[in-house]
Amino acid sequence: MLQRILSDLKPTNTRLIAVSKTKPVAKIEGLYQEGQRDFGENRIQELVEKQAQLPSDIRWHFIGHLQTNKVKQIAPFVQLIHAVDSLKLLREINKQAVRQERVIACLLQFKIAEEDSKYGLSINDGKRLLQHPDFRAMRNVQIAGVMGMATFTTDMQQVRQEFQRLKSYFDLLKSAYFADKPDFKEISMGMSGDYKVAIEEGSTMVRIGSLLFGARHYE
Ligand SMILES: *Cc1c(COP(=O)(O)O)cnc(C)c1O
Repeated sequence: MLQRILSDLKPTNTRLIAVSKTKPVAKIEGLYQEGQRDFGENRIQELVEKQAQLPSDIRWHFIGHLQTNKVKQIAPFVQLIHAVDSLKLLREINKQAVRQERVIACLLQFKIAEEDSKYGLSINDGKRLLQHPDFRAMRNVQIAGVMGMATFTTDMQQVRQEFQRLKSYFDLLKSAYFADKPDFKEISMGMSGDYKVAIEEGSTMVRIGSLLFGARHYE
């Protein structure tokens, strides 16, 4: 399955984040042996435990909702935080990054789905955040792009429109705030059920779990 997904991603150079949440370390090692290096988790405890047991050249992506008081635990090693949705969280990420003497790359999460349950900024929230003096003073976070989750539906036309909205937000922010910043380049969108549509709409990284690892069983 890995090779099939990679060949789907190849023409557009889209990166695969293998979402390993709930899956045992042995399964991650299997994909690692096949050459996969980017893995995504959405729970801090689980991420920290897995990171300690697995090869140090794995790039760990935090894809879930991040609580301020947990940033500290992943700040030493996290590759990319996908779901930043407040200035408060960004302040804490910057603070912990200063302590670690590193720059932590982050994506701003935008709400593109109809569902109420999904986290994320509106485009106006995003603009306000980027214009805020506190943000402009931060030296240890780097905004690398945007992230979004489409509505969980089989209506692929709706999903496509939501991905188009995220792409339009990316373009708008790029020209308004990051025109001279080549590092603002990522659009994290697409999961097992909709990644092909996401690629067509300009995704640069897809987050795929169940298609790679099989269905998840929560306790
Ligand atoms: C679980 C999860 C995924 C992967 O979902 P699948 O449908 O299993 O591919 C992607 N993104 C986020 C934010 C997730 O929490």
